[in-house]
Amino acid sequence: MTQPAFAGKNAIDVHSHVYLPRYVDMLRRRQMVPRIAAAGGEDRLIILPGEDREGSTAAGRPIGSEYYDPARKLAYMDAHGIATSVISLANPWIDFLDPGEATQTARAVNEEMEAWCERARGRLFGLGVLPVRDPRGCVEALTAIARLPHLRGVILGSGGLGRGLDDPALDPLWQAAEAHGLMIFIHPHYGVGTEHFHGTGHVLFLALGFTFETTIAVARLILAGALDRFPQLRLLVAHSGGTLPFLAGRLDGCVKTDYATKLPLKLPPSAYLKKLYYDAIAYHPPALQCLIDLVGVDRIMFGTDHPFFPPDLRGPALDTATWPSPAAQTAMIDSFPGPAAAAIYRDNARRELRL
Ligand code: URA
Ligand code: ZN
Repeated sequence: MTQPAFAGKNAIDVHSHVYLPRYVDMLRRRQMVPRIAAAGGEDRLIILPGEDREGSTAAGRPIGSEYYDPARKLAYMDAHGIATSVISLANPWIDFLDPGEATQTARAVNEEMEAWCERARGRLFGLGVLPVRDPRGCVEALTAIARLPHLRGVILGSGGLGRGLDDPALDPLWQAAEAHGLMIFIHPHYGVGTEHFHGTGHVLFLALGFTFETTIAVARLILAGALDRFPQLRLLVAHSGGTLPFLAGRLDGCVKTDYATKLPLKLPPSAYLKKLYYDAIAYHPPALQCLIDLVGVDRIMFGTDHPFFPPDLRGPALDTATWPSPAAQTAMIDSFPGPAAAAIYRDNARRELRL
């Protein structure tokens, strides 16, 4: 049943993951991270770098069919006032596959994603994946994605092709995304600062490692002048931009006073941050306010990160329970005035992703 706080929201969730069944099968067959391991009568997801080697994370996280059954995605959406979700494969996507296998797998995943969306009759749209170890294959995959009627862009890890988002080898990809008008969703996986996180389970890896990773990757992309070379590039940055909204002024200040370094930039870094798009997964009204103050309400879109961060339940009971992330994001967005909330819940996504 729809919870009162969610009723009538008709939200569009732009940050919603799946592991397609073929991908789950592939992870089940693997002995190395990323993998799915059976333990204690349930499947466990072990995907993060070094997760298997640290005592407090080695058991991974539970994974059930909420990750790969579209009916369960729709049940969760119904229970949380979400009319439409823009689904993306979850990390680590196909980053770990050799170029040949990656190219074939990207095609199969993107076509399966399209089929899921088509069957959902307007409730699901998608973002495809790229074979990141095959740069030319990435451009071809993007061209193929542009022809799939329900896909609106791609999800790309903050590692890019393996050398960060400032890698010049990404230029053909940025150019193709611009030409096709596709959104590129920048999402963390690799974490930074992991040496400080022992004994804290997944908490600091996900709370800090993920957000600092995004912060560094997008900052490097900006400092490399990529947004001067590709001014029409549309990037959607995960988790409300990590810490970028808070640190934007400091970035500007450090660029301005580093007299010895000549960066290829026409504008201060914060001016480029204002050209990007962000999900609203901030969990905290002052954090969202900081993002709004930097970029305005028209570049921010509701998201939940489903099926990560679940309530402590198993099976279909999960789908009708209240999940912490949509509860937090909804309470946070509802604390802003009506027009801002409407823009964030749905109007921005509808316009920018042509939904
Ligand atoms: N944990 C992950 O591994 N990925 C997400 O997107 C969120 C949490
Ligand atoms: Zn996510």
